[in-house]
Amino acid sequence: MVAEKANIKVVVRVRPYNSRELENHNQRSIIRVVDKTTILFDPDDDDEEFFFQGNKINCRDITKKINKKLTMEFHRVFDTDCDNLSIFQETTSHLVDSVLEGYNCSVFVYGATGAGKTFTMLGSGNCPGITYLTMQDLFMKIGEKTVTHKFDIGVSYLEVYNENVMNLLTKSGPLKLREDSNGVVVSGLILKPITNADELLDLLALGNSNRTQHPTDANAESSRSHAVFQVHLRMVDRKTGQKRTVKLSMIDLAGSERAASTKGNGLRFKEGANINKSLLALGNCINKLADGMKHIPYRDSNLTRILKDSLGGNCQTLMISNVSQSSLTYEDTYNTLKYASRAKKI
Ligand code: ADP
Ligand code: MG
Repeated sequence: MVAEKANIKVVVRVRPYNSRELENHNQRSIIRVVDKTTILFDPDDDDEEFFFQGNKINCRDITKKINKKLTMEFHRVFDTDCDNLSIFQETTSHLVDSVLEGYNCSVFVYGATGAGKTFTMLGSGNCPGITYLTMQDLFMKIGEKTVTHKFDIGVSYLEVYNENVMNLLTKSGPLKLREDSNGVVVSGLILKPITNADELLDLLALGNSNRTQHPTDANAESSRSHAVFQVHLRMVDRKTGQKRTVKLSMIDLAGSERAASTKGNGLRFKEGANINKSLLALGNCINKLADGMKHIPYRDSNLTRILKDSLGGNCQTLMISNVSQSSLTYEDTYNTLKYASRAKKI
């Protein structure tokens, strides 16, 4: 039985070189953004001058495999010069409109550690990420509708780490998940009411300080948890009294690098395996939704259980796949783009 195909949009964001990549003269760019929706992955050396941006290769690996030269299409590709504001304007701003029309929406940032997920979600310094920009937009659009509707907004910020669900705002947990008639409920979760986007900044800062690993730590040992920020919006039509509750979820996923590459002790390995469990489950759910399948294996991980009511059905899903353009992260970039292509399969 095939259900209606879910509304899933997949965009790719390519981050600029970091200083480590810039200092390495044996690397090259493996991504060429052809146009607003097309990437050429691992282009030929012939094209090098065109997009190599003046970096000279001093040492060429003669054992190197033939370039893959894969052309990949996405709903939108953001090149290295795009900032968080333009990403917000072209992606989550439209989701805010959908939320206000009553649709649950979810936004994922996916990619290897260091690819720019947290930068996209939270930003850095005085350059806010899309979470803040989206919430600012939500409050602005709500302000325009207060004549006809009354709104209540509560937020939650959870972490899924080793399949344990922790409340980042109260630093408590693990919290139990239970099913009820409305779906999956996180036991004991109290929503934090907020009335403007600036209150959110403090909450995000508080939540991030409670994350198991510091989210902006670029170290490969960090970012092993999934951070799930959810906005619960209750709208009451002043005239008819009709009530509606909608959810917007924004998820900073754990690094997608393979568990196999996380050497070390058993605990680390377990972490890697569990991250893969949640990421794998999410990938399976998204793929099945993209294929229009009816049975979606939400129960396979706590991440997908929490997000059950925000994926598929009438929900709108946006996946932002973050990649580095450097050949130093060839496998990660390739895997991320493959995962992303699979999710947007039409
Ligand atoms: P992740 O969360 O995927 O592990 P981060 O978002 O922490 O990666 O990014 C790693 C580093 O790269 C950080 O220092 C971040 O500030 C920087 N960075 C990531 N994306 C960009 C970008 N688009 N522009 C500038 N710096 C970026
Ligand atoms: Mg991060």
